[in-house]
Amino acid sequence: MNRAVAWSLLCLLAFAVLLGRAGAAAPLHQQWLDQWRKQNPQWHAVHLTGPQPDRLDATKRFVAEVMAPRGLNVLILEVNYGFSYKSRPELKCTGLTHQQARDLAHWCRKHNVRLIPLFNCLGHQSWGVNTFALLRTYPEFDETPHVPPDNKGIYCREWCPSHPEVNKVVFDLLDELIDAFEADALHVGMDEVFLIGSEKCPRCRGKDVAELFAKVVCELHQHLTKEKGVEMLMWGDRLLDASAFPYSEWDASKTGSHRAIDRIPKDIIICDWHYHRLEKYPSVQFFQQKGFRVLPATWNNPEAAVALIRASRVDATERMLGILFTGWTAGGNGEHLLTALRSGATAAERATIPKAAARVADTIEAGLKELRRPNQ
Ligand SMILES: [Zn+2]
Repeated sequence: MNRAVAWSLLCLLAFAVLLGRAGAAAPLHQQWLDQWRKQNPQWHAVHLTGPQPDRLDATKRFVAEVMAPRGLNVLILEVNYGFSYKSRPELKCTGLTHQQARDLAHWCRKHNVRLIPLFNCLGHQSWGVNTFALLRTYPEFDETPHVPPDNKGIYCREWCPSHPEVNKVVFDLLDELIDAFEADALHVGMDEVFLIGSEKCPRCRGKDVAELFAKVVCELHQHLTKEKGVEMLMWGDRLLDASAFPYSEWDASKTGSHRAIDRIPKDIIICDWHYHRLEKYPSVQFFQQKGFRVLPATWNNPEAAVALIRASRVDATERMLGILFTGWTAGGNGEHLLTALRSGATAAERATIPKAAARVADTIEAGLKELRRPNQ
């Protein structure tokens, strides 16, 4: 064999190896997802907020020592601006790195947990006096720019649904999360939106709030499901009419946005959150009747969790996905839930758990117990 032939063969071999790798990557994950779907007809999901990059060891232990053994099979990780986004350096975001996200995603898959990143769209663009990176960097996207910098008088800032440039920035962030987490689904938030259609916004003034809300949902859906090929989840409160359901203006809407429900695609998974103990939770059936898959969500009240699970099992169709335990006060890395729920933790260790996190742990415990009861 002469040198030229040997060189050509070597190149061919290298090309074949590369092709094999590129070809194997996507189906390997798809295969995992197909298998996961088969093995997990019901979602027993946990939501965590704001993971700290230096405590991912705790998150991994929580996945391996609590979630996997207890059959908690979905982790919804609320990332928002806590990520070192490379695509939009002007936002100056810090937090999880690409490698950490990839590493955590692999870890979750290894333990049969589906990891779904969450990025708050439209609403929740500030908290207290802090305005988050998007509206700090692009104040022109703000729905209510007249509100003073300390956010006095409003709950949270929102981006303008009619601004023609906002999606370009936001989609870059979502794409980066999908890539880093190798995500097959993304939760876009969209809860507790109150300022939409503000009279102070020259682009939205006088427009139908439901139309504005549906526009954002449909644009996100188009990008995520059609262009990126991932599933889309969102909170359900803005799609419920507060005057027709036994809920407050927080977990249902008084702005008129609820009429958007008939203008958005049915393959969106609706996370229907209600945190108080109620006699009935009729929205769980309502979303199914409308054709949506629904994931009822609870928080820090064990009795409320049990009531919601019981109500969700009544007349459940194949579109009732399971239950989501939100971890708003649990600590972003799951370390307190780990201490509370792993087997073998000592009483002294348990005594270190903050009360607010302990209530979340108690709620998960009560919910899992209820789920083990045969459906009546
Ligand atoms: Zn606007």
